[in-house]
Amino acid sequence: MTKTGVLIETADNAVKNTLWGVIAAAAKGGDVAAFLLDEKADSYKESLESYGVKEVVSISSHGVELAKRPEAAAKALADGVKTLGVTALLGVSSPVGNDLLSRTAVELNAPLALDCVDLDFADKTVKKSNFSGKAIATLEMTAEPFVCGIRPNSFEPEKQPAVCSIIDHTVAIENRDGVIIKSVEAATGKKDLTEANVIITGGRPMASAENFQILEECAQCLDAVVGASRAAVDAGYAPHSMQVGQTGKIVSPGLYIGCGLSGSVQHFAGMKTSRVIVAINTDKDAPIFTKSDYGIIGDLFEVVPALTRELKKQG
Ligand SMILES: Cc1cc2nc3c(=O)[nH]c(=O)nc-3n(C[C@H](O)[C@H](O)[C@H](O)COP(=O)(O)OP(=O)(O)OC[C@H]3O[C@@H](n4cnc5c(N)ncnc54)[C@H](O)[C@@H]3O)c2cc1C
Repeated sequence: MTKTGVLIETADNAVKNTLWGVIAAAAKGGDVAAFLLDEKADSYKESLESYGVKEVVSISSHGVELAKRPEAAAKALADGVKTLGVTALLGVSSPVGNDLLSRTAVELNAPLALDCVDLDFADKTVKKSNFSGKAIATLEMTAEPFVCGIRPNSFEPEKQPAVCSIIDHTVAIENRDGVIIKSVEAATGKKDLTEANVIITGGRPMASAENFQILEECAQCLDAVVGASRAAVDAGYAPHSMQVGQTGKIVSPGLYIGCGLSGSVQHFAGMKTSRVIVAINTDKDAPIFTKSDYGIIGDLFEVVPALTRELKKQG
């Protein structure tokens, strides 16, 4: 049986939600080995095996704090990939994932593709969305192992309980410490947009930062994260960390609610792979309606509070 590897990212002592879909993608290529860089394999074993992971590989390097040393982490990960003999290393195309996967591909001299939306192990091809979603490129990975970053939520997570073993893989690394991560702080203190399963986004007609509170209240009922269009960000109504789109964050939630968005190509470049798109717009001819699953013709300042009230009633 072939084996595929997945680089696991964790936050708050849990595997990040976006990894479950990546594990489902990896399982199509063979038994899944989950590579962890934080030496707490025991804490994650149960959740990982519930999604079918067969091996948790705990990578360490004689006291070197790999999570803060991306060069050393990539060397150690590459060593683990070679030792375990995986045919592909997948991860989520997050900022951390893209950085580590790229470095690891260099260490392995392996083909690399990031931000992939599809993957076929039979013919070793991946699909990538290019030019703001105007073209889909199919790339053949011509060597093994290959390294692949998956766009969040491109694959449906699949629960498939397995029995999983823990492998400790300690690597001696001569590291020059060219890059040391000193600190990483959330810009907003809120859950990251790329991790959210539900996003509610406000556009230019939000008209002020205060008005975003309407979306925040609705978001609380939906366990959603609030995003913004570039027009709203440029106008100073929201920070850039909330911007979705070509020059903002690439998101792919289960549900995307766009409030007062015209539906520009650049905005869609960042959220077109959302599973269900709902648009609220006063203009029945707004382009966003041609690209949405559901549309509400109406004023967001009436529709969103009404939705919040209804959600609150339902508890
Ligand atoms: C190189 C480049 C990169 C870009 N990157 C991004 C990016 O990353 N993200 C991004 O978002 N944009 C990006 N843009 C900008 C993009 O082209 C659009 O200008 C922008 O997305 C428009 O934002 P909007 O939909 O909020 O505003 P508008 O285009 O002004 O649309 C507002 C919509 O709200 C509707 N409306 C008005 N009042 C109400 C109301 N009360 N209730 C409901 N609906 C109402 C209107 O009918 C209209 O359709 C980029 C542009 C360029 C050139």
